[in-house]
Amino acid sequence: MKQPTPYDVIVVGSGAGGGMSAYVLAKRGLKVLMLEAGRDYKPEEETPMFNTNAEAPLRGVSTPDKPFGYYDATVDGGWTVPGEPYTTAPGDREFMWWRPRMLGGRTNHWGRISLRFGPYDFKPYSRDGLGVDWPISYDELAPWYDKTEKIVGITGAGQLGLENTPDSPPGILHDTPTPRLHEIMMTRAFEAMGIPVAPMRAAVIQKPMDGRSACFYATSCGRGCSIKAMFQTTTVLIPPALATGNLDIITDAMVYTVDMGKDGRAKGVTYIDRVSGEHKSVTAKAVVLAASAAETARILLNSKDGRNPDGVANSSGTAGKYLMDTVGTDSGGHIPMLEGMPSRNDDGMSGAHIYVPWWGYQQQARKELPFPRGYHIEVGGGQRMPGMGIGDLADYSDVPFGAGLRKQMRHYYGSDIGFAGRGEMIPNDDCYAEIDPDIKDRFGIPVLRFHWKWSEHEIGQAAHMRKTFHEIIDRLGGKVTYGFETDGEKAIAAGGEIIHEVGCARMGDNPKTSVVNKWGQAWDVKNLFITDGAVLPSNPDKNPTLTILSLAMRNANYLADEAAKGNL
Ligand SMILES: Cc1cc2nc3c(=O)[nH]c(=O)nc-3n(C[C@H](O)[C@H](O)[C@H](O)COP(=O)(O)OP(=O)(O)OC[C@H]3O[C@@H](n4cnc5c(N)ncnc54)[C@H](O)[C@@H]3O)c2cc1C
Ligand code: SF4
Repeated sequence: MKQPTPYDVIVVGSGAGGGMSAYVLAKRGLKVLMLEAGRDYKPEEETPMFNTNAEAPLRGVSTPDKPFGYYDATVDGGWTVPGEPYTTAPGDREFMWWRPRMLGGRTNHWGRISLRFGPYDFKPYSRDGLGVDWPISYDELAPWYDKTEKIVGITGAGQLGLENTPDSPPGILHDTPTPRLHEIMMTRAFEAMGIPVAPMRAAVIQKPMDGRSACFYATSCGRGCSIKAMFQTTTVLIPPALATGNLDIITDAMVYTVDMGKDGRAKGVTYIDRVSGEHKSVTAKAVVLAASAAETARILLNSKDGRNPDGVANSSGTAGKYLMDTVGTDSGGHIPMLEGMPSRNDDGMSGAHIYVPWWGYQQQARKELPFPRGYHIEVGGGQRMPGMGIGDLADYSDVPFGAGLRKQMRHYYGSDIGFAGRGEMIPNDDCYAEIDPDIKDRFGIPVLRFHWKWSEHEIGQAAHMRKTFHEIIDRLGGKVTYGFETDGEKAIAAGGEIIHEVGCARMGDNPKTSVVNKWGQAWDVKNLFITDGAVLPSNPDKNPTLTILSLAMRNANYLADEAAKGNL
């Protein structure tokens, strides 16, 4: 049966890349069909905004089903998705793959840290001869960062002038709330080491805008935000796109192939209705893949036909290749100076109010550090709404139970701090995803098999992170309480664990070594675009989502321009 609406563009996925693509395309007047594998999700109605941990089963503690706690916004997804496995190649290091299955994808419960990549980050090969350069420069993306930040709503105003950590033009960012006590102490300790500290840049608005309320420091943003203060595509991008009348959404639609026409152009996609199990095909003049980096690669690699025996858009053989995550490790300490403080409300913006941008660019240029790329530091601590983790404070107490224990726990509450390092990974030949030759998911779709290996660059960086954290804890007169190991090989998080998976369909200026051009347009299929993290050729330390959103905005506008010219 012919589909009732002739669509201009099919967008696969509704997270950062898909949400922004649909927003731009619908606003530009194109008829858009969004296909989302997960269920419909309405943050305004579903967010448990004011529930206390005491009301939750097990007081909201993490469980295998809910690794970020009972109230975390993720529905129907996570580290495992029932009936939808993936595998790791025998002998390789583990790769962990977090998959949302909900409208809005991971933007419903992400950490909101929104840092621009800097000029060095777009040309890393030119700087130290490792990895590859991007086909675009910072200056080309900067105007799109400006536009994206205005729509998303980002805190972090200030003109800091730091190396490779661009400021936004004045007037775009909102002011970050005042640092808390432990953040002020940390700032002093870092600055005494010659390390700069910056206001946190987060996708949380501090003044009302576009029908959204300002953050009023309610509960953890990982639950989502019913007042739309944090950025979720489900509250910020999808509603205005729907309001144009140009966007239709089908949820529970698991796309598994791009369908190709005889003319070498994409004619549409085929998906499985995850509820009924029916297979359905839809057509459009162009297709945008934004199902998240590795899933987009899976769709490309599973789209085999006589003309594309290795998958669609894969004449270079690089689809699935150069998978990356962020290098991560953490450590924490107990700071006696922070004991016995009067109770105060440290809730503030969910997440930290400060962060530490990478400070060692010049040392690395002089080859004075044993690893080539940088990391930033995210901090934690303070007297926030207590969760079950508070039980650890009992370890400091010499009273085992009762009023005495409660008194001691109040004394110690807020005296533990934590650090998380988030560093750049350089793409390597050993990290990639391919189709598993044997395993299929419950729908019969072949699954991904991951290959993973950290190189010495990342391992050296993880060791440096831990030593820096230990030095700061020492300077604050404290003792390390977790994250003792300084051997980078043992300290480094598993691949994928930081949930910044990017790469797998990188952009470039050579069709032999990349999947898409600088507009996210497949070299082999001119009406096929990729707008999620798959296109990133490298993964700087700065969290990727602001860049995914900005690229998606830029490239969706290019798609609309090309469509208007009749070039697709
Ligand atoms: C706990 C957590 C904290 C994070 N913190 C930060 C942070 O502070 N800063 C930052 O920059 N990033 C952070 N991230 C990462 C960030 O969420 C991702 O970089 C971003 O969401 C990626 O956008 P995307 O469009 O590629 O994928 P997603 O947002 O994951 O969206 C992909 C969508 O596609 C759908 N989909 C998947 N497969 C199919 C299919 N076959 N057919 C149809 N639809 C499909 C999914 O259900 C999903 O809705 C965090 C992530 C998590 C989970
Ligand atoms: S802290 Fe602010 S942005 Fe986050 S959920 Fe609460 S009100 Fe919303």
